[in-house]
Amino acid sequence: MTRLLIVGPQGSGKGTQGVRIAEAFGIPTISTGDVFRAAVAEGSELGSQVKAIIESGDLVSDELTSAVVRERLSQDDAERGFLLDGYPRNVTQVMHLEEFLEGRGDELDAVIELSVPRDESIARLSLRAQEQGRTDDTEEVIANRLAIYERETAPILGVYGARGIVVKIDGVGSLDDITARIISALEARGLNRSAAA
Ligand code: ADP
Repeated sequence: MTRLLIVGPQGSGKGTQGVRIAEAFGIPTISTGDVFRAAVAEGSELGSQVKAIIESGDLVSDELTSAVVRERLSQDDAERGFLLDGYPRNVTQVMHLEEFLEGRGDELDAVIELSVPRDESIARLSLRAQEQGRTDDTEEVIANRLAIYERETAPILGVYGARGIVVKIDGVGSLDDITARIISALEARGLNRSAAA
């Protein structure tokens, strides 16, 4: 049972690394950004509730986001652990998650902080905008998302840091090197991927 959270600014590569780490540990990745984008693409009710918000780079309400995550965490495959990507994204969501996990006698094992200098993350995001054409990757929206990260998301690292569960990883390097760094840092904390797989 491995319960992980990956945190990093937009463009830090957390989505890519999150998927790789979850695979290595044999646990599902739960990405709120992916859930919301899929809902928009499907045109579901959730999609219509969040479309305008994600396109402007603002945050979906804490109540709605936490409800979506609780439902996802209640599915069978998340019983043996999970990797959260993009949630919790502020201190209120940290409290919502905690309340939910405590209710089932669980807690996070580690929080992976992927650290990347601001210039590097802006450069990567502009590249992704050209390659993938994500509607929330325009220059103005990117600046908004990074500002929200600094103001609302970075403080959650203080909360988890005080509990001693933050594993800080240098996010500059090749994808494989960074994956290896994360895996060895988690193993050094006694989180074993072979035990989970
Ligand atoms: P990025 O981290 O690159 O901004 P994500 O894929 O994590 O992108 O999220 C895309 C958008 O989905 C966010 O800008 C926000 O509007 C919404 N979103 C994702 N996760 C959350 C969350 N935990 N709380 C509120 N809104 C969220």
